[in-house]
Amino acid sequence: MAKSKTASEVTRFAPSPTGYLHIGHAFSALTAYHARGKGGSFHLRIEDIDPVRCKDEFTDAILEDLKWLGLEWETPVRKQSDHMADYEKALQKLTLKGLLYPCFCTRTEIKAEIVKSGHAPHGPDGPAYPGICRNLSDEKREDRMDDGEAYVRRIDMKGATAIAGPLGWKDLGMGMNKAQPEKFGDVVLARKDVPTSYHLAVTVDDHLQGVTLVTRGADLAPSTDIHRLLQGLLSYTPPAYHHHRLIKDTTGRRLAKRDQDMSIRALRESGYTPEEVVAMSGFEG
Ligand code: GLU
Repeated sequence: MAKSKTASEVTRFAPSPTGYLHIGHAFSALTAYHARGKGGSFHLRIEDIDPVRCKDEFTDAILEDLKWLGLEWETPVRKQSDHMADYEKALQKLTLKGLLYPCFCTRTEIKAEIVKSGHAPHGPDGPAYPGICRNLSDEKREDRMDDGEAYVRRIDMKGATAIAGPLGWKDLGMGMNKAQPEKFGDVVLARKDVPTSYHLAVTVDDHLQGVTLVTRGADLAPSTDIHRLLQGLLSYTPPAYHHHRLIKDTTGRRLAKRDQDMSIRALRESGYTPEEVVAMSGFEG
């Protein structure tokens, strides 16, 4: 179901500054930019919650490369690392509903428990969390926190889906999809090192930026089930989605940031024009 070209939408491109953008990103950014339609708006969001992998030099390069391609966006650019208070507010709402719990497990403990139980359900992101910390008493939780043990905050998926009820989301290409967040188990919404997560930050930001149409790669379609659940729990109006095809290299492999010869920057330095790079990305408008 194609949307009318005259529809006006609020769209966004939300790269993580962990490397230079390649032509797959150009395709994704152009898809979002053109989907805004007449009278719509386009936002650029820098998803830089990971302090180890994200670098300011890549943020600068993203802005420069997108400008070179001819894109213009609303200002200010939203940098997720500047908005931790917004994510905490959402976490507090979920806490008040009794849907978050602290989890003190290390990766090794989780792995060992999965091996021991021998039957961990497998979600789209790997084995689901086996629930070790789900039923700790309040007293035990407080003791461990008081002892300064690091913890993540996980969603109690069973409780959350019971409260939210059945949910679905609309994709412009795939039509209506039933949300099945339970497949992921008790996902982490706030990490040990940063008090948010991809799933939480993206949901809060799309809401706060008034995004009406989320365009992003098809690899992220499964995550939309979690985002839809969070929208339900936080009383956000859900946007529509367009999960677009992924751009592959000549061998059929999906492009990654390590494929530096396909970076916008490298192509530009070797003399390609913006129009040529747009054409190479496969974007047809
Ligand atoms: N930051 C994500 C990435 O670079 C994209 C997130 C999204 O579009 O929802 O892959």
